[in-house]
Amino acid sequence: MKAEIISIGTELLMGETVDTNSSYLAAELAKIGVDLVWATKVGDHPGRLEEAIRRAWRRSDVTLTTGGLGPTSDDLTRESIASVMGEDMTVQDDLLAHLRSQFEGRGIRMPETNIKQATLIPSATVIPNPMGTAPGWWVERGGHVIAAMPGPPREIGSMWENEVGPRLRRLSPNIAIVTRTLKTFGITEGGLDEMLAPLFESENPSLGIYSKQDGIHLRAIARAGTDAEARKLIEPVESEIRRVAGGAIWGEDEDTPVSAALGALRRRGMTLGVAEGFTGGLLCSTLLEEDGAAEVLRGALVAGGGMMGAGVSDSPTADDAATMAAAAKDSVGADVGLAITGLVKTESAGSGRAGSTHIGIALGNETHVRSGAYPTRRLRIRARAVTHALLELARVIETGAGGQEERWG
Ligand code: AMP
Ligand code: MG
Repeated sequence: MKAEIISIGTELLMGETVDTNSSYLAAELAKIGVDLVWATKVGDHPGRLEEAIRRAWRRSDVTLTTGGLGPTSDDLTRESIASVMGEDMTVQDDLLAHLRSQFEGRGIRMPETNIKQATLIPSATVIPNPMGTAPGWWVERGGHVIAAMPGPPREIGSMWENEVGPRLRRLSPNIAIVTRTLKTFGITEGGLDEMLAPLFESENPSLGIYSKQDGIHLRAIARAGTDAEARKLIEPVESEIRRVAGGAIWGEDEDTPVSAALGALRRRGMTLGVAEGFTGGLLCSTLLEEDGAAEVLRGALVAGGGMMGAGVSDSPTADDAATMAAAAKDSVGADVGLAITGLVKTESAGSGRAGSTHIGIALGNETHVRSGAYPTRRLRIRARAVTHALLELARVIETGAGGQEERWG
């Protein structure tokens, strides 16, 4: 089943409103195994809107529209659909009564312009909208469907969950979708792409590669008649990825750097102390976002002065990171110490290498230091360093891998 999304509204083309509806719907369509093949943005212009809908009706089995169902004269979605279908809009008494009662309930007079929100064409039925005044239209004829929904994102969310999603699932009932995401760190997108080249040719499961803040993600999507069959399709792909890129994989599906680090500590019953320079508390607060982190995290030190590394001339060194990690461990009586220090170069507001970062890990009598620079914007270096430190901590605890001192970048 081929699907298409049309996001309607001139504000979307002016850069005033970000089109979040289409990304929300795209993710939902993927979950139920409907192939999204086109997504279009079009302004509140009668000719172009009609053109977009006519083309979608011809080439796609399912068209989802958002926006343009308001009461004003620039809300033209209904008129355009009616014109494409060659059908007349007529006011529905029951819809009109319901609309009037909604306004009465709020103690306001219904403007006459709202009457068009109570119309239908012969091929359309109502999609109820409990979150707003504009009901949607479900248009079905000759095996094609248009689901017209309003613009406000919270109205879309409830309409999808209660109405449109279930109806589409009934149209394609025998598809089970299973996805598996493997998360890597330390290999470039191009490098992974090369290593896994043959796997990207497969259509089912299909494999996607995405660059994220916490590394490169590989996502396999399999579709089959049943869940078990879809899982069976994914298995060989997953094992092949693990065979080829295993050392770089730190997590899967819902795992985060924090859950990976805390998981590694918990499995060994270890507690943690942290010390931070230029990240200024971000490592500690990132850890605390996870439930139960406080049981593992014994305490945190935020260094001041030179150790903050915020544009000072004598930048912290790899030795400082080792010292800080040991201090973090010992001062709070934890089993493991994790430290981040380095220099944030103030002059590099643009892209490029912005100062070096040192990550220190103190475990037993050993300290491990990782040093390098991130080719990224200054504002993102703090978040990047925190992610890297957490993943490095998980790796050292889980595998003891790596030497005492390593460089990246
Ligand atoms: P409308 O149904 O066209 O009257 O849209 C109502 C409101 O929904 C607009 O003012 C926007 O704030 C919001 N909206 C419309 N389209 C989108 C979209 N594609 N993504 C996010 N918000 C939207
Ligand atoms: Mg609009």
